[in-house]
Amino acid sequence: MKGRTPIYLDNNATTPVDPRVLQAMLPYLDDHFGNAASVQHAIGRQAKDACDLARQQVASLLGASPREIVFTSGATESDNLALKGLAEAHGDKRNHFITATTEHRAVRDTLLRLEKQGLKVTWLEVDREGRVAPEQVEEAITPRTLAVSLMAANNEIGTLHPIRAIGAICKRRGILLHTDAVQAASTLRLDVDEHNVDLLSLSAHKMYGPKGVGALYVRKGVRLAPLFDGGGHERGLRSGTLPVPLIASFGLACELCGKEGEADAARALALRQRLWQRLTEALDGVTLNGHATERLAGNLNVSFAGLRGEVLAVLVGESVAISSGSACTSASVEPSHVLRALGLDEEVAQGSVRLGVGRFNTEEEIDRAADTVARVVTRLREQNPLYGMRPSAGWTGAGVE
Ligand SMILES: *Cc1c(COP(=O)(O)O)cnc(C)c1O
Repeated sequence: MKGRTPIYLDNNATTPVDPRVLQAMLPYLDDHFGNAASVQHAIGRQAKDACDLARQQVASLLGASPREIVFTSGATESDNLALKGLAEAHGDKRNHFITATTEHRAVRDTLLRLEKQGLKVTWLEVDREGRVAPEQVEEAITPRTLAVSLMAANNEIGTLHPIRAIGAICKRRGILLHTDAVQAASTLRLDVDEHNVDLLSLSAHKMYGPKGVGALYVRKGVRLAPLFDGGGHERGLRSGTLPVPLIASFGLACELCGKEGEADAARALALRQRLWQRLTEALDGVTLNGHATERLAGNLNVSFAGLRGEVLAVLVGESVAISSGSACTSASVEPSHVLRALGLDEEVAQGSVRLGVGRFNTEEEIDRAADTVARVVTRLREQNPLYGMRPSAGWTGAGVE
């Protein structure tokens, strides 16, 4: 895991598979290949036992009961199942959802589709740090409100929503709360009872597990329609033969996050602060996007004045893996919907990159990554004839070389 090239600082996009998690998967790709539904024989029962254990491990991370865990193909499916499942099961009398403008597209595009189909959606605006206030949620509630869907932590800017306070409101008002906890789950304790969460989405590949598996926590008694019809697996909520190798390793990934998440968070926070310090010592014109303290330990979303984030990300890409806050559409490079929602200046939004520190990063990597990024930022600014002419950009001696 040490000495990886490029230095991997894109842990919000996906995390490397923990070697212990990889080991947990292998037997189920090999001798223990059984179908978890074939419980008449030992090969099937081994597979079922592995899934039972994993279900226990996932549930335990959330303070839930194993019967409340539905395995899915990942968080995109979990988010779709939660929202479309609720809409279909309840949609006649209660057809109003409350969400925010900064959700992951798995929530956002799902709700946009439901909106087209006639459901009502309130899109709460966030503040400059990317947060909604509990009062905004309370004010948006109507007699027809079915559920609130708000992510625990934002995947781009790392901002944490006040889920506990929002959960308390939802409980008091008799409204369901779904949270996409994909980014939060590796380092933050999210007990579903303490937070009054009714549905919660997880993805293994953001928790040092494999891609292609995730879970939806569904509180006992919450009615949901399935997305797929079929063999009736997962209590009828998710038909399809269970991917035992993925599930077994996802279970261990959750157990490890439960045991080590707090220590991981402390290390990631120290490394993130070191990274920020080195970047701001070396460069002017660096701003933090998102909240200063209410954010994921490992997430640093920064804007560099005088350049474009996607150019920087590509130029450092051989040595440091980071991602930009903009996505190329057909004709132009557009800041993401999240950066837009913060109300940033167009230029600041364009200059954004996301650096995500994870379990396996080292101090030495952080120092090398900061040096590389600072060097390329300086070079890009020197090549930008406009940079340095505006006092706000921060004069760095552009053109000296
Ligand atoms: C990655 C991510 C998803 C999608 O998860 P997949 O398992 O890749 O489908 C959903 N929500 C958030 C916040 C994410 O970061």
